[in-house]
This record gives sequence, structure tokens and C-alpha cells, in this order.
Amino acid sequence: MSVAGEARPLDAAMVIGGERVEPEAWLENFDPSTGRTLGRVAAGGAAEIDRAVAAAKQAAPRWAAAKPVERSRLLHRLSRRIEEAHEELSLLETRDTGKPLAQSRADITVTARYFEFYGNVVEAYLGGSIPLGAEMLAITENVPYGTTGHVIPWNYPAQITARSVAPSLAAGNTVVVKPAEIAPLTPVRLAELALEEGLPDGVLNVVPGEGASAGQALGDHAGIGHISFTGSVATGRTVAARCANRGRPVTLELGGKSPHVILESADLDRAIPLVVSTLIQNAGQTCVAGTRTIVHRSLREELIERLVAELESISIGPGLEDPDLGPLISAGQLERVNGFVERAVGEGNEPLRAGSVPPGLGGYFVEPILFTEAAPESEIAQQEVFGPVLVITPFDRADEAVALANATDYGLTAAVWSRDVDQALGVARAIEAGQVFVNGYAAGGGVELPFGGFKDSGFGREKGFEALGEYTQTRTVLVRSELPAGS
Ligand code: NAP
Ligand code: MG
Repeated sequence: MSVAGEARPLDAAMVIGGERVEPEAWLENFDPSTGRTLGRVAAGGAAEIDRAVAAAKQAAPRWAAAKPVERSRLLHRLSRRIEEAHEELSLLETRDTGKPLAQSRADITVTARYFEFYGNVVEAYLGGSIPLGAEMLAITENVPYGTTGHVIPWNYPAQITARSVAPSLAAGNTVVVKPAEIAPLTPVRLAELALEEGLPDGVLNVVPGEGASAGQALGDHAGIGHISFTGSVATGRTVAARCANRGRPVTLELGGKSPHVILESADLDRAIPLVVSTLIQNAGQTCVAGTRTIVHRSLREELIERLVAELESISIGPGLEDPDLGPLISAGQLERVNGFVERAVGEGNEPLRAGSVPPGLGGYFVEPILFTEAAPESEIAQQEVFGPVLVITPFDRADEAVALANATDYGLTAAVWSRDVDQALGVARAIEAGQVFVNGYAAGGGVELPFGGFKDSGFGREKGFEALGEYTQTRTVLVRSELPAGS
């Protein structure tokens, strides 16, 4: 699957049992920057998932029995290989998702880092012992589930695949991955690279296909011990309900409506670049996008003025030209974003459009849009738009800021901006979110930092050491011993 100057379309087949497998049927993959066909995607379904789970289960006992250091070395090899293929993977990611090339490059760096990090820490993933006196020995082991399933969204295909696959493999599971059908290229390529680096056949399988067929079949499969799902709240709940029916655990990473809380003493010079970048990154199609700005009334006017000026100056264009803002992923997503904007306007909100889409672009582009008067309870202030749309809400007292920050059903991330340490910490710790940043936002990909939602944003934790716990179950072994006579 070469990228540069290829004459044939980019196809994403399946990787099952250590082989590239052609599907019986294909779907079309569109280039978000042009709207034209990019290539074909395997239309995997229940039969292909079945085959992948069988291959994964066959590989599971040996993989689980391997010494952690052996798994660790393979993950390190894969990490290095991803670094060697950095540009190829970055180009694939940008072509598939439309995101600006610099952002794909950052994503691939983080992808490699996941395999490095879990390769590092798995050897220190210790069990325990419980003191029960001289006649008992109680120990706990971290035991893999066998085979885990991973349902991946289209917004960060490489990173999110690595995020759950790396800890699961490190912990001794074999895996089956179902990428989003509109962005399957890097997950498939990662599996190919892993095979080339010596990952045993069947340990990492990838079956692209539609959610309603391949995704559902994976979530329903009796051979899967745990499901990691990243995507929308509605689909996540469906998958979780199905897992509950089978009595299987699930990790849900869902959406967000994350606020920047800009307190009275905030340094706007530091805050504004991050308000802008977390709004336009991946065209706003980021679960941790900063889509609400809750600002002290005294700073509101200056903030709006400076945000508009910054946003006016950004470049908009095809991902491969590495603009500041690329296209949305699909025609459907463009329609969805426009729908939110039209409904907000219909409710009497004036949109402040900053920057403009250059004429003649064929892809799914939208310019940044600010709503500065929308009521906190309105749809545009409550729902995840997944586009570069920002709602700005003023407050007078810090407790109002906290109440506003917490006034959505989501609770994924938040940022607090202040020069006053006491106040910043007080507000940060009152926010209902899985990650809260003070005077910053998500450090370097945050591979080491436990990540996940409060409230409707999900449950369970990915990233960090903590994620290893999602992919293992505790076995307690109790040994009764007899004291030697006379002791
Ligand atoms: P989605 O529609 O929920 O899809 C996510 C994945 O689930 C895709 O692979 C999809 O397949 C699959 N799927 C759809 N129906 C399924 C079913 N019945 N059973 C099993 N799998 C099924 O979400 P999306 O539109 O791709 O992604 C956008 C959403 O994901 C946003 O809400 C965003 O916030 C959230 N997200 C969250 C995080 C996080 O870490 N918290 C990260 C990224 C995105 P197909 O697309 O191929 O049909
Ligand atoms: Mg695509």
C-alpha cells in the first residue's frame, strides 16, 4: 500500500491470521479534501469477524504465556518501525481523514509512543501478595482476557488503534480491530508492519467494515473477552448493552463538550493560542476539542476580538497542503455540522464566521464559527457538534464558571486559565471531567496520563499505566501451607 505517486487507488483489505485477506465485497473510501474516490475498503461482516476471532483465539494461549519481556521487545520493534514509516503513515492518515499533514505527523509520533510506553511499563505491571499469616500464601496475578475487540472511530484512526491495542497486547491479549469504514488505512497498515516485525500470526487482526455489520458482529462475538469502544454516545450505549447481555466488560470512550474556563486573572496571551488550536484541530472532530469558552465578563470582549483576529488569519485547504484547518471527514459530517449551525441560527443566534473557505475546493470544508450569545442550555452549547464551532459564555463569579463548566451531560476534559493558583486549583478540582488542565491542554499526546470520561463521556480509562487494568482480570491464588514441625 504505497502512498507517494501511486497509480492505483488506496485499498484497505483485511489482516487475519497473519495474512492480508481480500474481502468478498468492497466499499468506497472518499478523499475528504476533494470529495473524489480514494480507494476501496473491505466490507467485512460477521463471517470475516468470526474468522478473525478464531485466528486471534488460536494465537492467544502462546501470546499470553510469553514472558512480558518478549512481548515488550516486539512492541518496541513495532514502535521503531512506525517511526521508520512515519512519513508514509502520516500521508496515509491525511489522505484518509483530510487532516492537515502536520497533525497526522503528530498523531503518528503518538502512535509509535503508545507501543513504546506499553512495551516499557508492562514488565513493571506487578501482581501482589496479601498477608494472611504463616499458613497461607495469597498472591494476585494480572491475567489477560484472551482476545479483546477494539472498535475505532474515524477521527484519529492510527492513534486510537494504538491507544487500546498496545496495552491489550502488552498485557497478553490477542486482538481484533474494527476500524471506521471511512478511515481504515492506517489501522490496516499498522497490522501489516506488526507482522513484518515478527508479531506472531493471529495476534493482531484488523477487519474493516461497517458498524452495523462488522462492528456489531465483533461486539456480539462470544469469543471476545473485553471490548474497547471509542465513538459516539449513542453507539457506545448500544455496544455496552450488548456486552452487558453477554456479561462482558466494556470500556467506553465517548464524546465531549469540553470547556476552557478563563478566570479573571488569566493570561490571554497563553490561553488564546490553545483556545484556537483545540477548536480547529482536526476541524473540530476531536473528542477533547475545546468547544466551549467560559470567560470572565471583564475579558469577554477582548477575547472575542482576539479570537476572531486569530481565526481570520488561519489557512484553510486540503490536508496534504498542510493548512491550519482541513476539511471535515465526509459529506455526512458536513451536513451534520451545518444542521447544528442552522438550528442555532433558527433559534435567533447570530453566527460570527471567522475566516472563509477558499472558493473552488471540492471537499467538505467549513470555516470556524463562533456563537457569542447562545444560551447555556441551547443545543449548540450542549451537544457535540464535531466541527470548528465555538460557544462563548460569560460569567461573573468563579462558582458560576464551575456551574457552567459542569452544565452539560459530558465530562471528558476541561482547561482552567488563571494566574491565581488557589483559584485555578479550586476550580479545576470542582470540574466534573476525566482530565483537567491548568494553563495548558493535553501535554504531548498524554500517552502517560489516564484518560476517559465522567458522566456521558464514558467509563473505564485508556492511556497511562491504569489502562493495563482494563485489559486484565485479577486471579487470586491461595496456597495453604503447613509449618514445618517444630518451628
Ligand atoms: P460512531 O458512529 O459511534 O462510530 C464509532 C465506531 O463504531 C465506528 O467504527 C463505527 O463503524 C462503529 N459502529 C457503528 N455502529 C456500530 C454498532 N452497532 N456496533 C458496533 N460498532 C458500531 O462514532 P463516529 O461518528 O465514528 O465518531 C465520532 C464520535 O466519536 C464523536 O461523538 C466523538 O466524540 C467520539 N469520539 C470519542 C473519542 C474518545 O476517546 N472519547 C475519540 C474519538 C471520537 P462505521 O463508522 O464503520 O459504521
Ligand atoms: Mg477515508
